[in-house]
Amino acid sequence: MHDPAVTQLSLIRQLKFCAGHRLYRHESKCAFFHGHNYRVDVEVVAAGGGVEVDSVGRIVDFSLIKQRMLSWLDANWDHAFLIFEDDSNALAAIRLVEPTKYFVMPYNPTAENMARYLLEVVAPGVLGDLGVTARRVAVWETDESCAVATLTGDAGLLGLALESAVLIDDRHDR
Ligand SMILES: [Zn+2]
Repeated sequence: MHDPAVTQLSLIRQLKFCAGHRLYRHESKCAFFHGHNYRVDVEVVAAGGGVEVDSVGRIVDFSLIKQRMLSWLDANWDHAFLIFEDDSNALAAIRLVEPTKYFVMPYNPTAENMARYLLEVVAPGVLGDLGVTARRVAVWETDESCAVATLTGDAGLLGLALESAVLIDDRHDR
């Protein structure tokens, strides 16, 4: 009746960045431009699953997860405004500022959707060649609240291209 217990190893790396956003059509104060000190927890499993580790005993070295994920976050979301592509008013406003850095999201930049984007688009793009899969991403908007996106089923069927999803306009290098 019951499946026998099996061990699944995973590791979690914590990453931090700052970003601004607003929630399009939000009923109250989240509709204003504001920012957060975000914390992201990325949970990674070996592509082969189970207890697969390298000769040293690691799924992957923690430093590689940090390097790959943080360099993407630094380049794209850190000190940027995250704006929903339908929010033409916010897009028009952010384009008036010089210099400006913003990132256009295919949905409202809630913690839920940011977690989803990191899980479905960013992690496969930057971690894929390491032989690991991000199984879960948590985005902490405050010390008390986080949203979690979890992958179920076959990660190979995600089929999202990182390149085609990244839209960034950082016209002035700092
Ligand atoms: Zn917010």
